Amino acid sequence: METWDWAADGLAEDKPNVARMYDYFLGGEHNFPADREMADKAIAIYPGLTEVAKINRAFLRRAVRYLCVKGIRQFIDIGSGLPTLGNVHEVAQEVAPDAKVVYCDIDQTAVTYCRMMLIGNPDATVVHGDVRHVEQILAHRDLRHLIDLGQPVAVLVLGLLHFFVDDDHPETFIARIFDTVAPGSYLAISHASSDLRPEDGERITKLYERSGNPIRFRTHAEIAKLFGGFTLVEPGLVEIPDWRPSADVGVIPEAVVSGYAGVGHRP
Ligand code: SAM
Repeated sequence: METWDWAADGLAEDKPNVARMYDYFLGGEHNFPADREMADKAIAIYPGLTEVAKINRAFLRRAVRYLCVKGIRQFIDIGSGLPTLGNVHEVAQEVAPDAKVVYCDIDQTAVTYCRMMLIGNPDATVVHGDVRHVEQILAHRDLRHLIDLGQPVAVLVLGLLHFFVDDDHPETFIARIFDTVAPGSYLAISHASSDLRPEDGERITKLYERSGNPIRFRTHAEIAKLFGGFTLVEPGLVEIPDWRPSADVGVIPEAVVSGYAGVGHRP
């Protein structure tokens, strides 16, 4: 990892980027001043943001463990982000060493770092792709090399769908996933909501819009609708820390919670 000068890799470093901002929220080092400046503005509006990012990662770990226990051995993590602590393959392969994992992100930095992280792991790979063309991701040769779509799979879209406004029709991405995966497959979603703090949500929406990264906070009902044909498993769509809580969640102050998470099943 040390050998690649990522900062000199021709990236649009003068514009804030959601993958690198999220890395900053999580305490990572792969971010530029423009990312940090906008992230700090968002944190000033909503000081719980860094905690929310960690809460979201904790949901990822719980969901992957749950899915392993349900017998899932194939995972597709779309909008996977820059590698951080507790990536999907680490959690899944700890429970099920034969688990296969494919990461996907639109951000080239995330893809490059992910590829480096996976060197020497024949059961995990990363593809560069755009969830707006999710059928191309699912048809990708490298994905098909690891994943048998004739067998159940878990698709994770965590912290991703709120980057699509209604005109992008994110529900159609999910519908295409539903139509492609085998019965017995699962879909996990976590999504920002401003149900608890609507005014802060509005200020953050404006901030992101101005920076060219539109964001759309959705209500509980709107997020539940995104699951389409997938049937929510217990406990349904709940505030992120409340989804099958375990010891790694800790006690979350109410004001910090700003999103919902759920896992759906394709019967
Ligand atoms: N899924 C990770 C998690 O929940 O911890 C990372 C979430 S991060 C907030 C959102 C990620 O989605 C970023 O890495 C970003 O590059 C990626 N992303 C944004 N638009 C995308 C698109 N159209 N297709 C695929 N990935 C996208």
